[in-house]
Amino acid sequence: MFIGHYAVALAAKKAAPRTSLGTLFIAAQFIDLLWPLLVLAGLEHVRISPGSTIVTPLDFYDYPYSHSLLGVLVWGVLLSGGYFVLKRDVRASIVLGLCVVSHWILDLLTHRPDLPLGIGGETRWGLGLWNSLAGTLIVESVLFAAGVFVYLKATRAKNRAGMIGFWALAGVLFAIYLANIFGPPPPSVSTIAVAGNVSWLFVIWAYWVDHNREAGQVVPGAPDRK
Ligand SMILES: [Zn+2]
Repeated sequence: MFIGHYAVALAAKKAAPRTSLGTLFIAAQFIDLLWPLLVLAGLEHVRISPGSTIVTPLDFYDYPYSHSLLGVLVWGVLLSGGYFVLKRDVRASIVLGLCVVSHWILDLLTHRPDLPLGIGGETRWGLGLWNSLAGTLIVESVLFAAGVFVYLKATRAKNRAGMIGFWALAGVLFAIYLANIFGPPPPSVSTIAVAGNVSWLFVIWAYWVDHNREAGQVVPGAPDRK
């Protein structure tokens, strides 16, 4: 899953309106931000095996620290706790923790059984939506459209940057998603690991977009803004 994770972050803005979309991106993509670093460090492993599933040529055979159920729960608690220490916002902290865990739930839907439950065990889960190209495209596109819709309802642009910047971000994410699915397999594992860090660009972009938008709901009785 790729844009489905961003969809969760976009929709979570409604539940945590004071939290920047950039922070929500970090949470929903947390284990995928961690994963390329762990691969580069040699702690987790992936191999390129075209036909592994219809949608992805990647065989995620070893990624217990980022993508086990135990791992994602620990990361969720750490991120949630860290945010609480910094911001003292219980509700937003819980939303961020749930965003981290949501990543594993959505990966569970799409991956073949390669998601470990713990660090050492052999049990691996995955419902294998990636074996259906149409199913993957429909589920992720619908999720993404819903996320965009909720975010646009929960916020409004303060200026043109908030409007154009948002649509450009959504468009680039969707284009990269299609390129990943329909493009050729990556040339090497190190290319995957290095390219994976591009996700940080979307985090920065989301902070910038969110900074140029404001809460969308008009509070009853409040004086008109501007
Ligand atoms: Zn993932």
